[in-house]
Amino acid sequence: MDYLVRGKFVVTMTRDGAAGVIRNGAVAVSGRDIVEVGRYQDLKTSYANAAVVGSSRHWVIPGFVNAHQHGKGLTDFQLGGKDDCFEISRFAAEPRAGIDPYLDVLYACKTMIEAGITTCLHYNSSRSPETYDADVDERLRAYRDAGMRVSFGLDIRDRNHIVYGDDEFLASLPPALREQAAERYGRSRTAAPDDYFRTARRLAGSLDGDGGRARLFLTPAGPQWCTGDLLRAIRREASERGLGIQIHVLETKYQRSYFLREYGRSAVQWLAGLDFLAPDVSLAHGVWLNREDTRTTAAKGAAVVHNPSSNLRLRSGIAPLTEFHAAGVRLGMGLDSSPLNDRPDMFQEMRLAANLQRIPGAGPGLVPLEAIFRAATAGGTDVLGWGAHYGTLEPGKRADLVLVDSRSIVEPYLARHQTPVDAMVYRGAAGAVDTVMVDGEVLYRGGKHVRLDEKALLKEVKQKIAPAPRRKAGGLEARLAPRVRDFLESHEEYPVDPFYKFNDAG
Ligand SMILES: [Zn+2]
Repeated sequence: MDYLVRGKFVVTMTRDGAAGVIRNGAVAVSGRDIVEVGRYQDLKTSYANAAVVGSSRHWVIPGFVNAHQHGKGLTDFQLGGKDDCFEISRFAAEPRAGIDPYLDVLYACKTMIEAGITTCLHYNSSRSPETYDADVDERLRAYRDAGMRVSFGLDIRDRNHIVYGDDEFLASLPPALREQAAERYGRSRTAAPDDYFRTARRLAGSLDGDGGRARLFLTPAGPQWCTGDLLRAIRREASERGLGIQIHVLETKYQRSYFLREYGRSAVQWLAGLDFLAPDVSLAHGVWLNREDTRTTAAKGAAVVHNPSSNLRLRSGIAPLTEFHAAGVRLGMGLDSSPLNDRPDMFQEMRLAANLQRIPGAGPGLVPLEAIFRAATAGGTDVLGWGAHYGTLEPGKRADLVLVDSRSIVEPYLARHQTPVDAMVYRGAAGAVDTVMVDGEVLYRGGKHVRLDEKALLKEVKQKIAPAPRRKAGGLEARLAPRVRDFLESHEEYPVDPFYKFNDAG
């Protein structure tokens, strides 16, 4: 026996809808697996030779799962960007151009591990078709070196590279600006479909032998960025090779308008018509799903990954979490590389999710905090396709777990009847993470990295990050951004009857 991980509470997440808390418990870990979970006193006798990690002031929880993020170590803000409406920010800022993809992801892993995140989905953001394969390999190497579990998503898009309705938008520009805009933004930065599937097949074979911590996902950017033919091909490939799929869906109201205008129906219904939706598909964001979309998503067994921080920062809106939960949609939680405090914190993200659903009034129907905690842990491994051997603290599962130092949560006093899950959602913060284990390997202990050389990494990041260029006042971005804004607003003519009045503003 290698480790006995003990705590005042062990939150196993083994019962549906409830946390399954063991008081004065421990988790016995051998190799990469959990072999027994029970009372510390009993396990101490059975496994007298195991190294004890934790104490009566710690709580043991399954590792957090960041089920949607882009592997950005330094945030867009750190690199000179500012929050704006999603369509404008992604169009106007390209602050990552000068960043070493390996270092960027390694630094992202460092900050995620410090926040107790053991598993993530990496939604790849390509820089160019020319560097596509090399970037993918470098980013995968970073996850391997950091020791994190990753569902690695290969991105692709084949239409609407500037804004939803590219041809119409370009036609509205003066000729000189049109030429510049088409040249700079009007092309895909992802691989062409043939190259894309070649890369996917190469990786699908090699990742199987990757120590079990990386698996391949296909992550088409979104229905408004992909043709039906491309999405059908991705659906086929995923089914044939057993790969998961994640796709941004209805993140913004403009995406919703675009589909109503072009297809007379919602993006979710369009995807359902392509036979795209299935239990191996997760929809990132889903802010603008309506009731029918939510029912369709649940009926197809597809999941939604909720990104409340990012949805606020990028002016996307509030996703209908209570509707998802009530309809039985499977849920994960993601930080989208755009967390509220500009640094990863799943405790805070759960708290934000919990509070954003508190619409005015005394009505029932709020999502229980345990369900939000489940979405941020076991729900995430399920959504990311890790299957039956991951996500909860039970014998036979992989030992992906976190020790939380409870002092900042319970000191100087916390009523005894408050559950550890409620207390973590109300009062937890990433700084309370003490120890992080993936596959039985300790990656972080006592607030210090075990595998990563933190000092060397920080030094290298400081040395190698090229200073972000300051945007010129009269530059291409400055001239295009207001025109994109006008274009979006002039096409937003469809009432959408949002779940949240907040989303109805304007
Ligand atoms: Zn995203």
